[in-house]
Amino acid sequence: MLPYVDEFRNTSSCAALATTIAANMKTESSVTLMEVCGTHTMSIHRHGIKQLLPSNVRLLSGPGCPVCVTPNNFIDRAIAIARIPGTIITTFGDMIRVPGSSSSLEKVRAAGADVRVVSSSLEALRIAQQEKGSQVVLLGVGFETTAPTVAASIVEADRLRVTNYFVLAAHKVIPPALKLLSGGVIAVDGFICPAHVSAIIGSRAYGFLPKDFGKACVITGFEPLDILQGVLMLMNQITSGAPRLEVQYDRVVRPEGNRVALDLLDEVFELSDSEWRGMGSLPLSGLRMKERYAHRDAERMIEVIVEPPHEPKGCICGSVIQGLKDPPECKLFGTVCTPVNPIGACMVSGEGTCAAWFKYASGRTGNNRVTSDDSVEMQGMSETL
Ligand code: SF4
Repeated sequence: MLPYVDEFRNTSSCAALATTIAANMKTESSVTLMEVCGTHTMSIHRHGIKQLLPSNVRLLSGPGCPVCVTPNNFIDRAIAIARIPGTIITTFGDMIRVPGSSSSLEKVRAAGADVRVVSSSLEALRIAQQEKGSQVVLLGVGFETTAPTVAASIVEADRLRVTNYFVLAAHKVIPPALKLLSGGVIAVDGFICPAHVSAIIGSRAYGFLPKDFGKACVITGFEPLDILQGVLMLMNQITSGAPRLEVQYDRVVRPEGNRVALDLLDEVFELSDSEWRGMGSLPLSGLRMKERYAHRDAERMIEVIVEPPHEPKGCICGSVIQGLKDPPECKLFGTVCTPVNPIGACMVSGEGTCAAWFKYASGRTGNNRVTSDDSVEMQGMSETL
C-alpha cells in the first residue's frame, strides 16, 4: 500500500472527522444525502461510512452506476447484433453478465457468438484493424468519463480509415438525472457529486443545484477521508441554511473541466433524449453520434429486430437506482439474486448498489470498519466505467 493512499484511509483521522460531523449536527431532524457515482457507492459500503455517521444522517445511492442505468432495450439490441454472423462485439467487463430481456452477452457467447471483453476503446479499434473480415462493434456505455475515450476511438478510426469499426452508444450525462432527482419524490437535502465525471465536465456544471433547487452540493473524492470531509461540508451547508457548490476533490476537479475531453465529446457527440432504467426517457440526458459520424453508429448502420424489452420479475432495480428503495427491500436480494446468479443489473455491476450491499453486508453487520482490504472482489467485477 502506498503511503499516499494510506493517508486517505487513516483510521484515527476518519474517526476524528466522524466525531466532528456528529458534533456539528445542529439539527435533530434527519438529513438525506445522495451519491450519484457507483465508485462512491462502493467506497461508502467498503469503508463502513454509513455506520460512522450519526443515525439521523441518511446516505442514499442514486443513478451513478452506468451499467445499471443502461436499459434492457440496449442490451437486447447488442445481443441481436452479436447474433449476426461475422460480427465481433467488444465490451467492458461488467456489461457481459447483465441480463437483457431474455438472454445476456455471456449466454450468446456460450452459444457461439464472438463477444470479447476489452479494457479500452482503442483495444476494440485494434481488433477491427486485425479482423478485417468482421464488423466490430464496441458497446459505448458510461457517463462523461468514458464517453471521451469512445469519441477518441471514433476519430482515430476515421483517421486510420478503418471501415469495419462501429459503436453502439448508450452514453449518459449526469446533470439531467440530478435535475430529476432534485425535483423528485425523495427529499434529498444534498448531493455528493461525482468525482470522475466532474474531472471532465468541471464544477460549474452543477451550479443549478443550489441556484435552482436549493440543494447542498459538494464534489467529493473517493477515499474515506474524502467522503467524510464531503459529508461534513454538506452538513455545514445544510445546518447553516446556505446551500452552495463546493469542491472537496480540488486536487483533481477544475471549474472548467477537462478541455481536451470536452472538445472530443463535442466533435463526435450531441445531446439527445435518452432512456434510463427505471427513470424513463430524460430530455437531453444522452449522447448520440453527430450526423458526420453516422457511419460509425451501429444503431443506424446495423439493422436488427429487437425483442420488446421487459424487466426480470420481482427485480426492483428501477427503484434502487433512484434511491426509492434499499436492496434488502427486494424479495430476491441475497437469496435468488446474488453476484454469482444476478437477476438484475444492480447485482452484476462492480458499481451496483445491490452488489455493494451484498458484498459488504451493509446494515446487517453494523460494522464500523475503515479498511483498505479489497481482497474479496467478486467474480467479474471491475470499476472501469
Ligand atoms: Fe434486482 Fe437483484 Fe437488486 Fe433485486 S437484488 S433489485 S433482483 S438486482
